[in-house]
Amino acid sequence: MITHKNISLFFIFLLLLLLLLNLYFAINFWWFVVVVSVWFLFNLVGSSLISSNYHVKAFCNNPLETEKKIAITFDDGPSVFTLEVLALLKKYDIKATFFCIGKNVEAHPEIIQQIVDEGHLVGNHSYNHSPFFDFYNAKKISEEIQKTDAVLEKHTSKKINFFRPPYGVTTPSIRRALKITKHKVIGWNIRSLDGGTKNQNLIFNRLIKRVCPGGIVLLHDTASHSVLVLEQFLQFLQQNNYKVISIEELLNLKAYEN
Ligand SMILES: [Zn+2]
Repeated sequence: MITHKNISLFFIFLLLLLLLLNLYFAINFWWFVVVVSVWFLFNLVGSSLISSNYHVKAFCNNPLETEKKIAITFDDGPSVFTLEVLALLKKYDIKATFFCIGKNVEAHPEIIQQIVDEGHLVGNHSYNHSPFFDFYNAKKISEEIQKTDAVLEKHTSKKINFFRPPYGVTTPSIRRALKITKHKVIGWNIRSLDGGTKNQNLIFNRLIKRVCPGGIVLLHDTASHSVLVLEQFLQFLQQNNYKVISIEELLNLKAYEN
């Protein structure tokens, strides 16, 4: 399996082999540069693709699901737009999972309470969602995760089990932090990219092109265009006989521990 550990061992072996060969033959310096560059590239791709399981095991879909069942997740809230998302979910009788930023939970306690009261699941998405999160050490990451758990648990009264790393990027420090906090990492395989564009058609077409049995959809409850796409998407799912189920049901994992 291509994991950080295996790749590191392989490339260390390769470098040692080159060094050994260099004792007998004059190995061109550029071979060393090539090996280190490819190693770096593996790390870059592995860290930025949550589905690669390069640093941590991430649940990104249920590959065994053959029926038209999917789960929908929202990141980065709660925000004022969450209320519109909740209204739509109620209209279509759908339960979703919200990966919340700790500081936003503190800013909108009534909205998080409504999310929980209406039967949706919540997960941890760091406290600050800092662009430097991936450069934090394991101690700082575990502190962020625990701080967010604490604010969420005021509303759930149960221990939070799901974590989604900011930007879907994983690192060795995140892996070490998760060994302490014991969260399950939940990824996605149907990314809307609604954070990158406001073009509703583009987002909607992206979603319907990728939708498949067992899939996990990633949307954001932080902008009006995402809400508009959500309504379009829920209509599409209804017309195409897709059933939206909870992450718990899709992955057979528990969102909370008592
Ligand atoms: Zn995020």
